[in-house]
Amino acid sequence: MFQRAGPNAPHVGIIGGGYAGLACAVELVRKGLRVALFDGARVLGGRARIVEKNDFHVDNGQHLLLGAYTETLRLLRIVGVKPSVFDSRPLDLYYPGQFRLRAAALPAPLHLAVGLLRAEGMDWAERRACLRFIRHLKAQRFRLPVQLTVSQLLDNAAQPERLRRFLWEPLCVAALNTPAAEASARVFANVLRDTLAAGASASELLIPKVDLSELFPVPAARWLGRRHAQVYVTEAITRIAPDGARYRLEGDPVAARRFDHVVVATAPYHAAGLLAPFPALAPLVTSIEALAFEPILTTYLQYDETVGLPAPMVGAEGGHAQWFFDRGQFGGPAGLIAAVISARGPHLDLPRDALELALHNELEALLGRRLNTPEATLTITEKRATFACRPQLARPDVRTAQPGLWLAGDYIDGPYPATLEGAVRAGVRSAHAIARSA
Ligand SMILES: Cc1cc2nc3c(=O)[nH]c(=O)nc-3n(C[C@H](O)[C@H](O)[C@H](O)COP(=O)(O)OP(=O)(O)OC[C@H]3O[C@@H](n4cnc5c(N)ncnc54)[C@H](O)[C@@H]3O)c2cc1C
Repeated sequence: MFQRAGPNAPHVGIIGGGYAGLACAVELVRKGLRVALFDGARVLGGRARIVEKNDFHVDNGQHLLLGAYTETLRLLRIVGVKPSVFDSRPLDLYYPGQFRLRAAALPAPLHLAVGLLRAEGMDWAERRACLRFIRHLKAQRFRLPVQLTVSQLLDNAAQPERLRRFLWEPLCVAALNTPAAEASARVFANVLRDTLAAGASASELLIPKVDLSELFPVPAARWLGRRHAQVYVTEAITRIAPDGARYRLEGDPVAARRFDHVVVATAPYHAAGLLAPFPALAPLVTSIEALAFEPILTTYLQYDETVGLPAPMVGAEGGHAQWFFDRGQFGGPAGLIAAVISARGPHLDLPRDALELALHNELEALLGRRLNTPEATLTITEKRATFACRPQLARPDVRTAQPGLWLAGDYIDGPYPATLEGAVRAGVRSAHAIARSA
């Protein structure tokens, strides 16, 4: 339902045009509030955006969505994005010649049981261990002790070495962007509860066929514009200045404007500086500053159009790359391969050329054939891609101790690690809390 904003409706300023800020803006406008959103960058999307460089038109990093991303999918529908923007397929963890687990298109738990029956590279003891692990989590209703790491969880559930290597540890690094030895078992269990254990449609992999700015931020900005909300790019907010019970934003091109509420929807490392001048927020700033971060590196290798992978996404192990994506299979140019490396590792110490050569060699080994040198390469390292999702992490709420100041972003307290869905859910929660308070 959409309520038109009246001239006296509360006015909300949102700092940050990533998925969290835009989700918040859409929900606020739906509730009949007036909104202006500011982003300092040239393009919307934040850590999920298009990068145009050296003839490449690619994302800042390959992203995957899941059928379980219910809030993201709801907001996409609201702003008019069709489901056909995704290449949707059942969860398929495929290491050519070594391992394959593909969920069957059936309701839970049959999707996994049948997937396990048909699995490749798993013996019967491993198949049983996999089912035992899911049962172990179910028996605890997926609520695990806060201090447990994923490695400890796998030890406790006696998971065999190959299952750890090809299934649980890669899933952990891909979902939490944190190595299993350091990752929160509780958050990992939440991810498994809503994917593998939830059913075929929740565990479905959704690979965007359009770039990440075009997926949600641009349609959301258009939707907002049609409803008289303002969306600004290249307008960084440098300070939130109190003015009576309202706020002025330094950097707002309309200098006379005042906001009843302000949502800080930036990455956590940018939020702390904006919040620091407010004495009431000192504990919050300390907790945000305590967050550690993990990188994600994506190397794009443009080959001639004869080069492709046996599936849109294949796993790799034993080298630097964790996953290779064949962008030609989901809307990108033929021959464009993305190699993805999540979390810290020795790859960060290599010169760019040496890493790109190593990834080219790893791809040759995976495909079992020689490839011509790539025609072009582009490596993007997002040094602070996500917060490190460790046990006992204190994550803030959307509400702050400063009246009228709110938070949104992937680091806000919630069941998920730093993901698009986590960001969107925090944006929606922030909007609902503001609407209630207004
Ligand atoms: C390489 C990579 C791969 C990833 N892969 C996946 C994946 O496969 N699946 C998944 O679900 N998630 C993935 N993620 C995580 C996901 O991208 C993030 O969790 C999500 O985009 C965070 O959104 P956000 O809105 O919270 O923050 P951000 O995207 O960081 O948005 C914050 C915005 O605030 C703006 N800003 C900052 N300071 C100011 C200021 N002072 N004034 C105005 N604007 C400001 C920034 O320009 C930015 O646009 C990945 C992330 C990366 C980096």
